[in-house]
Amino acid sequence: MSKKINNKGLIERVRGMHDVMSNEYLIRKKIIEKAENIASFYGFEPIQTPHLERAELFTSAIGESTDIIEKEMYKLKTKGGDNLVLRPEGTAPIVRAYIEHGMQTKPQPVMLYYHGSFFRHERPQRGRSREFQQFGLEILGEENSIVDAIIIKTLLTILEEAVGIKPISVHINSIGDKECRKVYQKELTTYYKRKTNDLCKDCQYRLKSNPLRLLDCKNKECDEIKQGAPQIINYLCPGCTNHFKELLEILDASEVSYFLDQYLVRGLDYYSRTAFEFFLEENPDEEKMSLELGGGGRYDSLAHILGNKNIPGVGGAIGVDRAIKILSEKKKLSVQTKTPEVFFIQLGSNAKYKSLFLLDILRKAKIPIKHSLSRNSLKSQLKIASKLGASYVLILGQKETTDNTIIIRNMETTSQEIVPISKLVDRLKKKLK
Ligand SMILES: [Zn+2]
Ligand SMILES: [Zn+2]
Repeated sequence: MSKKINNKGLIERVRGMHDVMSNEYLIRKKIIEKAENIASFYGFEPIQTPHLERAELFTSAIGESTDIIEKEMYKLKTKGGDNLVLRPEGTAPIVRAYIEHGMQTKPQPVMLYYHGSFFRHERPQRGRSREFQQFGLEILGEENSIVDAIIIKTLLTILEEAVGIKPISVHINSIGDKECRKVYQKELTTYYKRKTNDLCKDCQYRLKSNPLRLLDCKNKECDEIKQGAPQIINYLCPGCTNHFKELLEILDASEVSYFLDQYLVRGLDYYSRTAFEFFLEENPDEEKMSLELGGGGRYDSLAHILGNKNIPGVGGAIGVDRAIKILSEKKKLSVQTKTPEVFFIQLGSNAKYKSLFLLDILRKAKIPIKHSLSRNSLKSQLKIASKLGASYVLILGQKETTDNTIIIRNMETTSQEIVPISKLVDRLKKKLK
């Protein structure tokens, strides 16, 4: 087997994958905790689906001619011959779980939140990893636009309050349903066919495979052509028009401001009606592309594709990695870690043997403590204690171990007292007050 070894002879991590450590780890944890609280408040319940799914789940749900299916899935074949993939997105697995566990028998709608890793083999760029973390919401079993509004409002609140980045702009569009989109797609194709030679290579391909994606192109030449393209809003059937109108009215009444974005189509085949994305409103002076922080949409036909069921659904997700990236660029990446007030020192082998027993007494009393149990000398342990800014050190020596006592030393005044182990918690708590 081949190993990727660098010039120092080390096996390196896989490209596009990251180790999450120290401060960043704590920030991620905090963001997820706050996001879970917000989601629970709005009535969402947790779900966790596996990292591995059958390949057909995504090929049938997402559509063959999308970047995800064509080039971005991590595929593997089991010894038994099953084709599995590392999940590239969260919605199809949740719809699968809904059908598989018969959630249609529960009171509807079913509101779920999830977070975890997703995998796409794409070119790593700003804030993009091949293993990326998402926090997402899904509402299944309800067609009314009020649930679209709940998804948008909850995700927006998570971005603003759990992540803490503002201002966020909400881009929104309706891409119609199967019926009215068919008519629009035909018009769009006719329009673009006349300009085939002026289109970029990608768009020439999209024209054949997935014409809606033409509106996604960020190329300059294609942009001019896009300006004259027919707009989907003019092709929506009465049902889709009403659904969209009602959603906008609810957002207005909820004081959520939005931007009607006629080019917003979302890349996946299963979307219908509502499509939305969140962007960070960046300072226009800074030469950065506006950064998408997440998005989602309605997928009323997905359950039909996966299990021949008629279950309307809507959902969305935010990219935790990108949010963290922005926080670090804005230098908002710090978690206040409490400096420990107490440091535990042991001297001699009998004291060392007893130290885990002692630490457990403090853990049960909820007194946070630092230690360096592998050290032996008083000097080196005191040095670490003062480096960490400890206010008190506990010293367990040979004599104290025999007497069942311990020394509490005030680091500032250097005064110290000997207390029985049985009184240690009480004495310490008084001092720490
Ligand atoms: Zn193009
Ligand atoms: Zn329609």
